[in-house]
Amino acid sequence: MSSSSTPSCITSSTLTLFSDWSFCNGCGLPPRIGTAKNDDETTTTDDLINDDNSCMNKQQQQTTTTSTRKKLLICRKCKTAAYHDSACQKIHWAKGRHKYECKKLSVALQPLRDISSSLPSSNSSYSNRRRCLWWWKHLGQKDLIDCNKIWKFSSIRWNRDEEYLDAMDGFQKALEPIMKIWNENNQEIILSAKESSSSSSSSSTTSIFGIQLARKLLFCAYCEADGNQPDSSRSRLAQCISILLQLRNFECGSFDDNKQQKKNHDIITPLLNDAWMELMFSYEDLPELRKITYHVAHMAIQSGKGRCEWNDPMQRPGYMAKFDAVGISDSNNNDCSADNIMSLPYILPEQHPEWCRILENNWKDIKAELSVLLLQNNNNNINRNTMMTSSSSSSTWGRVGCGNRGSGSDDHRVVSSGDWTEYVLFGTGAVSYTDDDAPVTKRLLKRYVADAVSLAESGGGEIIFSKLAPHTHIDAHCGPTNFRLTAHLGLTVPNNNNDDDANGGGECKIRVKNSWYYWETGKILLFDDSYEHEIRNDTDEVRIVLLMRFWHPLLRNEKRQLELSEARRQKEMAVEKRYHPPLV
Ligand SMILES: [Zn+2]
Ligand SMILES: [Zn+2]
Repeated sequence: MSSSSTPSCITSSTLTLFSDWSFCNGCGLPPRIGTAKNDDETTTTDDLINDDNSCMNKQQQQTTTTSTRKKLLICRKCKTAAYHDSACQKIHWAKGRHKYECKKLSVALQPLRDISSSLPSSNSSYSNRRRCLWWWKHLGQKDLIDCNKIWKFSSIRWNRDEEYLDAMDGFQKALEPIMKIWNENNQEIILSAKESSSSSSSSSTTSIFGIQLARKLLFCAYCEADGNQPDSSRSRLAQCISILLQLRNFECGSFDDNKQQKKNHDIITPLLNDAWMELMFSYEDLPELRKITYHVAHMAIQSGKGRCEWNDPMQRPGYMAKFDAVGISDSNNNDCSADNIMSLPYILPEQHPEWCRILENNWKDIKAELSVLLLQNNNNNINRNTMMTSSSSSSTWGRVGCGNRGSGSDDHRVVSSGDWTEYVLFGTGAVSYTDDDAPVTKRLLKRYVADAVSLAESGGGEIIFSKLAPHTHIDAHCGPTNFRLTAHLGLTVPNNNNDDDANGGGECKIRVKNSWYYWETGKILLFDDSYEHEIRNDTDEVRIVLLMRFWHPLLRNEKRQLELSEARRQKEMAVEKRYHPPLV
């Protein structure tokens, strides 16, 4: 983060609910190609609003103008569904069962509306924007002292055995005054950004108290989430985010001292990230609320523009690497930045690295070795079953994510049906540390795909034979980082059969971000798994690919280990933050 980046004020209109709609929820099709933009208004019904706050990036705007696609209309009640027109809306309401989820979604979205409305409106004057600190104005000195006292006492209890629940009660009690102000005054304060009684206090005092408060709110939200109180957890996170965003506004130009500003900025940004991330995850477990994660991601990205590498609501970054734009041709696009080059979810074959061609040319040899490994596994299983004794050579194929592989250890959770197994060639849990199990494949990999072997051996990835049983579904999920890409070399690819039904039954395919792709035997499919992806094998056949994670080509050699250890450090810190209450 460069110190020259000046934070800009965030207003209620900066943060809009998710508006990057790609498909109609009624018919599943993209926006229609229209003639004039004005047509939208004529089709707006009582229940639909025309979303004018859409915050598209340049690229999308271009596609919109060249093909003049009409914007979709958005369900006025929940703002989480988009339609071509009221006919499509009716389909979704009845057949799509939106009538059962609309209200639920609307209620669950409230914390996001609260965050947005806690910010000053864009037309309030600069000084009003600065003074708009709801928590600071209404929180008395006594409240703050009491809060700290109870918090400290509860932290001590937290560290004793068996007193977690009492400690959590204490944390909640300590934050009661804040909750009260939030519930009672939120709207009111925003409307009347009048002279603050505490405007005399210095910027740094405000920032210090604000940051302390935000830390407590975040920790309490963690406790509540783990203690199965999702609603209070979300409300807590909304307060935390609102405070941090306001602090950031408060800082706009309020420090002559650039160093102090940068220091606060460096504290606020990661805290804000953690809070957005936790809010996002709070919607992930319930399938009916899952789509709200996009709204959270969208707002988080809007509020953090230019401050992080995370730039797409279809990502859930645990850690995002910073790439250098050096050496990238920008002849096609003058606004070319590292950001939009990085945001490729799927890499076209003509952009594949050279080694892809080499593996593709040798796919038959690789498949021959795979066949031997499959046969051995079957024999092992037969031996075990017939002799009823524990075989000395344990099964070499394991469920993905169930071994003790360092990366992707949660992978098995996303398998909603069927079976997903792996044979690890390189990486934690590798079956053999010699080349004997798959000599040709391993030699090819070592010689030509060093970027994948080195990533696997440093614990940041793996090279496996990945086998999907018939009718296996892997639910939508995101990889934790963008410093690596994923390659699949198709070895056993089922025949697609589109006859079953219109919803793509009988196909074997992968969705990355918004598009579906198909494997081909002997061909490589390349994607960035930090984007949401899901896999459906709806055929009666097995699908096997050689899966390779490799260092992102734009990540320079000398930066790789640095990025990997930084990602590890942040992962450890995340655990630390979640289970250790802040002291003040
Ligand atoms: Zn439609
Ligand atoms: Zn709705």
